[in-house]
Amino acid sequence: MKCLNCGNSITNNLKIKEIFLFKKIIPDYICQLCRSQLIPLKNKNNCLRCYKPNVSGICSDCQIWEQKYQIINCHQALFEYNQFIHSYFKLYKRYGDVLLAKLFFKDIMSWSKQNQFDVVTYIPSSQSHQRLRGFDPVLELYKDIFDLQLLLVKVDADKPQAQKDRQERLQTPQTFSALPEINRLSKNQSILILDDIYTTGRTLMYAHDIFWESGFKNISTFSLSS
Ligand SMILES: [Zn+2]
Ligand SMILES: [Zn+2]
Repeated sequence: MKCLNCGNSITNNLKIKEIFLFKKIIPDYICQLCRSQLIPLKNKNNCLRCYKPNVSGICSDCQIWEQKYQIINCHQALFEYNQFIHSYFKLYKRYGDVLLAKLFFKDIMSWSKQNQFDVVTYIPSSQSHQRLRGFDPVLELYKDIFDLQLLLVKVDADKPQAQKDRQERLQTPQTFSALPEINRLSKNQSILILDDIYTTGRTLMYAHDIFWESGFKNISTFSLSS
């Protein structure tokens, strides 16, 4: 198999456990060299709410979510946002290389096996973005791993979150509305909302708010990077 990012060969060093227990092997699409450039977030004194590294307790952004909006953030992510992740999303989203959707398949799949939810949904692109790019990047990232339900609609914003500075991001007005399917779900179910990158949390908190206002109380969020 070749690395989707750089084209190098991937050597699958099977662990003894995997060979003898006939454990189902999750395919990997990223080589060791590329993987060595990733910084996993796990066990890094993570913020108890948003999983950002090197925080003792709750970070200042999450304190704002709690005090100002009464939202108890419950977020997890896999990798620190660094140069590698930045370049990855540039190729994947800006240049539209849809094949890169599978680069982190193994990591996301492993996480999904350890974290169970009744309903899994995602942050959709706005219609105009989807038309422009030809695919929905968050959907493509997760569709082969989770049984996804489309429950939100994103209205076209003034400009993409990626082009905004920190203040503009925090001040973005609500950009989602609920699809009627939300009301057909039982409110005691646990919900997981997926996004690609978590920055201030503004986008996911609005999505969170839609579910909260619809009567759900057990809401978690996840992103590849934070
Ligand atoms: Zn590689
Ligand atoms: Zn936080």
